Amino acid sequence: MRPTVLCFSGLDPSGGAGLQADIEAIGQSGAHAAIACTALTIQNSQQVFGFEATSKELLLAQAHAVVGDLPIQCVKSGMLGTTDNIAALAEFLREHPEYRYVLDPVLVANSGGSLGDQATLVKAFVELIPLATMLTPNTVELRALTGEQDLEAATQKLFAMGAKAVLVKGGHEDTADYIRNALYIDGEFVSESHCPRLAGEYHGSGCSLASFIAGRLAMGDELKIAVQHAETWLFGVLKQAETPVPNGQKIPKRF
Ligand code: PLP
Repeated sequence: MRPTVLCFSGLDPSGGAGLQADIEAIGQSGAHAAIACTALTIQNSQQVFGFEATSKELLLAQAHAVVGDLPIQCVKSGMLGTTDNIAALAEFLREHPEYRYVLDPVLVANSGGSLGDQATLVKAFVELIPLATMLTPNTVELRALTGEQDLEAATQKLFAMGAKAVLVKGGHEDTADYIRNALYIDGEFVSESHCPRLAGEYHGSGCSLASFIAGRLAMGDELKIAVQHAETWLFGVLKQAETPVPNGQKIPKRF
């Protein structure tokens, strides 16, 4: 049985983001994906119409069902939806300190739609940050989590909040031709990557990247190598992304 990543993530009916992105990305990384579903969202490639979150009892029951059944090496979280679900995941991770954990601190969809109450989610994430092997915030999430506008100060604040490693994703920054991601481990800058900025908006790019990293960690990569593999893979699947409708975000073609 392949090493398994257990994802705590939501269903996106468009198949671009959320748990489908996780399953496809982790499958491509060589690992197996298992899912504890946090929420059912109502959305398409253009907008979010709403969501219904799973209860924390149901969420934990899903996770507990596969512990001991599958060779889980790593946990990955995306949309958690409620502070109850964040607390439930923290409880689960404390029961299983042997799992590596990739925290993608999802606050809003790329289309701008709400995936939970941002102010309360930000406060609740404080409990998860010290439990994570790595965080993968985009710069909007990084600023929201820390309250710091300056990116270097915000990254250092995340370390002061207990983070062990942070991949700062630069896709939302004002760099017209390129995107810069920067990897920090234990408060130290480790490496950066630059890739050309592709035209258009993409649905589920963050989910895909974080999940591929989790998959490579489950397969035994070191953090820096896992990130490099994931960035190279993501650029390829974004280049071949498909546009469902003229106003829709592009859907990464992960196969
Ligand atoms: N999880 C779910 C269920 C979502 O619907 C979304 C965005 O729509 C995300 C996560 C985050 O998506 P992205 O990878 O585009 O940041």
